[in-house]
Parts: sequence; structure tokens; C-alpha cells
Amino acid sequence: MMGLCALDLTIPYSWDPLYVYRALRDFAFGAGLPRAELTSWSYKIVMAHLRSKQTMTLQRGNTALDPSIIWANVLDKCLNNKQKDIAWMSAHMCLPTRSFMFKRHLALTEHCPHGCTDTEHVYHLFWEFSVARRVWGLVLSSVSHNRLLPRSSLTAESVLYGPSGGCRTPELQRQWRIVNTVKQVLWEVRNIKVYQKTSADLVTLRRRTQNLLQDDVMVDFAKDKRLAREKWGVDHWKELII
Ligand SMILES: [Zn+2]
Repeated sequence: MMGLCALDLTIPYSWDPLYVYRALRDFAFGAGLPRAELTSWSYKIVMAHLRSKQTMTLQRGNTALDPSIIWANVLDKCLNNKQKDIAWMSAHMCLPTRSFMFKRHLALTEHCPHGCTDTEHVYHLFWEFSVARRVWGLVLSSVSHNRLLPRSSLTAESVLYGPSGGCRTPELQRQWRIVNTVKQVLWEVRNIKVYQKTSADLVTLRRRTQNLLQDDVMVDFAKDKRLAREKWGVDHWKELII
């Protein structure tokens, strides 16, 4: 009326809408829109602003960890290629477990191949499953003895995604390497069970993990003695009995 109540609807003037639009409000605040200094509020410019603020996200998985740290952990140079593959696929939740294959009509069942009635997904395979728990227990009893992997550092999240602060120190690299060696063994055993219908006993699992770790230690010492001493806490690879 007379220009007094005319509102310019091309500019947002309230960031506190009705409660039914709460989700939109949260999104706007999360994206920093109220503080954004845009030349115009046209669709194109707002979208360009949002795209510039976009951060890396995980497609699936429910973790509070920073995705950039997860991806850095997954591709950390302390892992070998096989372990990187398994870690990457676990973080993406696309490791070809029965649950993953069943959803895509590539497996007849989604149950765990080891005979338990649970669905076989990444958490089950590497953490929940009774064999996985026993293997973690066995490995911890031997590596904790050498103070290589503290019991407290092991959680479902750290097993799947790595240390929450990234692999900054040789200790954290060593721990992440050990965790991934165990994951590698669990995945191998699962594949042997699926494709060759053979179960491995715990002693074999433990030996396989020990052998892989011993090889790692030897390779590290052959590559860089100083770094390996810092990483494994011994002067010579023969001193470390895992
Ligand atoms: Zn199972």
C-alpha cells in the first residue's frame, strides 16, 4: 500500500520460518546462508554458493568422523594395496559381503557364510561376528603384550575408519596397519569359507596374522631403519616376537 508495505521478495528477510519448515531453516544455517554475502539471491548464484561450500561426505555409514580424515586413513601409505582396497570398500560399505550382493540380486542369501543367522555386512564381518571377536581378542593378547596396539584404541569405528585424528604419528600408523592386517585375514577367511567351503581354525587365523605382521616389520626395517625403529619400538626386527 503506497509502497509502505511492499516487500522485496527477491531477498530473504527472515531466517526463522514456521516450525514446519524447521528442516529448511537447519539446512540454511548449516550451509551458512544467513551470513553469506551474495551479489544476488537468484537460484543460480545461491546454488553456486552452496556448491562452493560443499564438503566431502560418505555415501553410507553412520559415523561422526570427518570424511576427509576417513579417506586419508583409507589411503594412508602405511597400508599395502590389498589393505587399502579392503579399507576403502569397508568405508564405502561396498565390500562384496552377502548383504551387499543380496541387495543387488547377486547372492541367494544375505546370511553370514559362517553359519550364524545374522546378516553379513561390514560391521558383522569385522566386528560383531563371534569369530572376529575371538580373533581381535587373540591378536590383542599378543600385540598388547608388546604395547603395539592398546586395547582402548580398538572400537567398531576405529576398526572401520581408522584413528579419529588421522595417522599422524608412527604409533598411529602402526596401529592402523595392525588393524588392517586383521581385517585382511578376516576377509580372506570369509572368502575361503564362501568359495572353498572350508573353515579355518583360530590357531591358523592367528598364525596368518602373525606372519603378515612379521613380514611388515621386516619390510619396514629393510626400507628405513630409523623410521622402523620409531614405528615398532625395537632395534632389530628379530627382537619383535608377535
Ligand atoms: Zn556371522
